[in-house]
Amino acid sequence: MDKAKYIWMDGKLVAWDDAKVHILTHTLHYGNGVFEGTRAYMTENGLAIFKLREHTKRLLNSAKITRIKATYSLEELEAAHIEVLRSNNFTSNVYIRPLIYLGYGIMGLNHVQAPVKTAIAAWQWGSYLGDEGLENGIRVKISSFARNPVSSTMGKAKAAANYLNSQMAKYEALEAGYEEALLLDKDGFIAEGSGECFFIVRDGVLITPPNDTSLESITQATVLDLAREAGIPIERRRITRDEAYIADESFFTGTAAEVTPIKDIDNYIIGDGKRGPVTKQLQDAYFDVVYGRNPKYKHLLTFI
Ligand code: PMP
Repeated sequence: MDKAKYIWMDGKLVAWDDAKVHILTHTLHYGNGVFEGTRAYMTENGLAIFKLREHTKRLLNSAKITRIKATYSLEELEAAHIEVLRSNNFTSNVYIRPLIYLGYGIMGLNHVQAPVKTAIAAWQWGSYLGDEGLENGIRVKISSFARNPVSSTMGKAKAAANYLNSQMAKYEALEAGYEEALLLDKDGFIAEGSGECFFIVRDGVLITPPNDTSLESITQATVLDLAREAGIPIERRRITRDEAYIADESFFTGTAAEVTPIKDIDNYIIGDGKRGPVTKQLQDAYFDVVYGRNPKYKHLLTFI
């Protein structure tokens, strides 16, 4: 990891190597903690966090869903993000990881008695699925694991516990020689990647599933806005695996994954087996937005 100098922990800037927790930290045992993945880009005018408000709102909603009483307000959390970025003097793009977790004090499943703790870490990080993937596409495997069903898991929360499902799917895909997993829901329709939302293009129409069994993705919303603005027809509907196999183009979106083309799913070559024209158009438009090159979207950036 590219260590930074400080991590924000409950109001204090703590040296990176000293940002530690007790072994009986509640979240470590039972998995009830919520987090975000947020990015800051090095724009012409310095470092800027993309959609800080949306990410912070989702963090607080995740806490509400999982019955964790957050101890900091939206405004306080936003200020803490800015503080941790300022204190670290970053020189390139940054990934930010806020975490609300249950600390040391009690054991057992009645989590409401555990102390609520908050931390925000940030470090310099490049592309999640690789620069090569961003340009030429990645290979994806449909997982043997179904996405957590809504009847048992609350997927609107970006909760640590939900990610065991993603981790197992990712492991399986990597072990089979692919770069990312694509999970179906319990009925066999495409849900999402292990940490990304899924899109296809067919006959010029951009199609992405509703967020029934996926996270309410912030990047997916940005890409849909950009597509709407470019006059690309959009459909929000379920996608089957065979429809994905015969798509003209396919890509993943996510804060970490950005807009990553998919060149192959289960060894079916998608389109020409490289980044397609609609994917490239939306990827370019996305990078223009996050790097502050599109004045219409500058209000989504929080300059540090
Ligand atoms: N689905 C899952 C399971 C994720 O972890 C992520 C990453 N946060 C996404 C989708 C994409 O969400 P976003 O665009 O808000 O980063």
